[in-house]
Amino acid sequence: MPRPAIVWFRSDLRLRDNPALAVAAAGGRPVVPLFVHDERTGGRWAAGAASKWWLHHSLESLAKSLSERGLPLIVRSGEAEEVVAAVAEECDADSVHWNALYEPAVRERDRRVKSALEAAGLEAKTYNGTLLHHPDAVKTGSGGPYKVYSPFWRKLKADVDFGEPADCPDLAKPDSVPLSQGVGDLGLLPKIDWDGGFRETWRVGETAASERLDEFLHNTLANYGESRNRPDWDGTSQLSPHLHFGEIGPRQVVARTRAFVAENPDAEAGAETFLSEIGWREFAHHVLYHFPETPDEPLRDQFKAMPWRNDPEGLRAWQKGLTGYPIVDAGMRQLWHIGWMHNRVRMIVGSFLTKDQLISWERGAEWFFNTLVDGDLANNTLGWQWVSGCGADAAPFFRVFNPVSQGEKFDPAGEYVRRWVPELQKLPDRFLHAPWTAPSNVLAHAGVELGRDYPRPIVDHGEARQRALDALKATK
Ligand code: FAD
Repeated sequence: MPRPAIVWFRSDLRLRDNPALAVAAAGGRPVVPLFVHDERTGGRWAAGAASKWWLHHSLESLAKSLSERGLPLIVRSGEAEEVVAAVAEECDADSVHWNALYEPAVRERDRRVKSALEAAGLEAKTYNGTLLHHPDAVKTGSGGPYKVYSPFWRKLKADVDFGEPADCPDLAKPDSVPLSQGVGDLGLLPKIDWDGGFRETWRVGETAASERLDEFLHNTLANYGESRNRPDWDGTSQLSPHLHFGEIGPRQVVARTRAFVAENPDAEAGAETFLSEIGWREFAHHVLYHFPETPDEPLRDQFKAMPWRNDPEGLRAWQKGLTGYPIVDAGMRQLWHIGWMHNRVRMIVGSFLTKDQLISWERGAEWFFNTLVDGDLANNTLGWQWVSGCGADAAPFFRVFNPVSQGEKFDPAGEYVRRWVPELQKLPDRFLHAPWTAPSNVLAHAGVELGRDYPRPIVDHGEARQRALDALKATK
């Protein structure tokens, strides 16, 4: 029997269309599937509690799929450089295969792993299974990276052949299998029971991801152009955590969306918009790859001089969903409860923090990263720099979202707010997004005393907007 190959699983927790697995298993070579829980990598941007919750369930799902094919998932915790080499020695592997990731700390760690393996005489091979393109695959006319999304996506679609997704290869088991810890031994689940909302909301793993995509294509895609902006509807794919953990790959999403449109031409416009969101994911990784400092500093230098306020109490009110602005509070509570927030509301709460509260985008990015099941360094950094005006192709800082009119426009019947801010449930629609404007008898009738049952607004939006614009002027 040939010597086995190790497949080092990371954020590619799937068997189908997994290039590292496909090459490792080619020709019937036995494979050793390995996951290493390396807590040291990532520093400030190490996985948060919500992300660890997802990882636990995703690993269990992967382990189950592998065991159905006769293979155990080897799980170890420790420093990747040491663990990968040790497992290779234990099972006498001749090569290690993995799909590349593009977070700066992970890239650096992976370079060290590769050198250690090569020094030990093993082959270390990497593939692109996370993105439609390697972040170096497209360049501007002058040979540099893109900072503007639209020409980037146009060029990527024109120049890069995304290829067809592959099925799961036949998997052969090696003669001897290294010892493994249990997934439960990694300590990824919370010690206190705060994850009830997560359990009710999510199904995790490769099969769940695939079924979610199917449901979305059949029920939502045709209407996605409109539904994507409505937090009160089930109007987006909710694939973000599945994509982040690689339970489904972007190539699979593109191929299946295109195949669906071929059968359902009515969905073409919706599909174009949906795929352009996958394009934003590609762009976020392109920007992170070429500007690896962006998680810790703004891409646009002007914003280094921004007089952000240090306001721990205001930050706490925002985190807890107690700002007195219902659409903001609904979003922040949705995030806390299910580890996910609708994109439109991410933009609204981001604008509120960085403009109405004039608190740095970094505080928002940290909180999101800790609480999102889809916390993703590339997407999160781009999202926060976009919303606060300091990043690539960002919304201008002077465009300050009005949280009342945003609520009225995108949650017109108040269903989203009523779901997440139940203390306002009985308030009539016309006051729901600005409870402080309701006459006292209306508030009393709805059982709301402002300051007792629900906060008064922590800032006056008009004054706060002006303060933000003055702060921006000070940076010029
Ligand atoms: P859909 O609308 O169904 O889109 C499909 C997929 O496209 C998503 O799953 C996602 O992978 C990708 N996508 C969609 N919008 C964006 C975008 N603006 N940027 C990059 N990729 C996108 N997304 C994350 O995955 N992780 C994050 O940590 C994250 N942080 C964000 C922070 C802020 C402040 C903002 C404004 C946006 C952030 N996003 C993040 C992007 C976006 O909000 C989510 O990807 C989206 O809400 C996920 O829901 P969905 O899967 O239903 O999206």
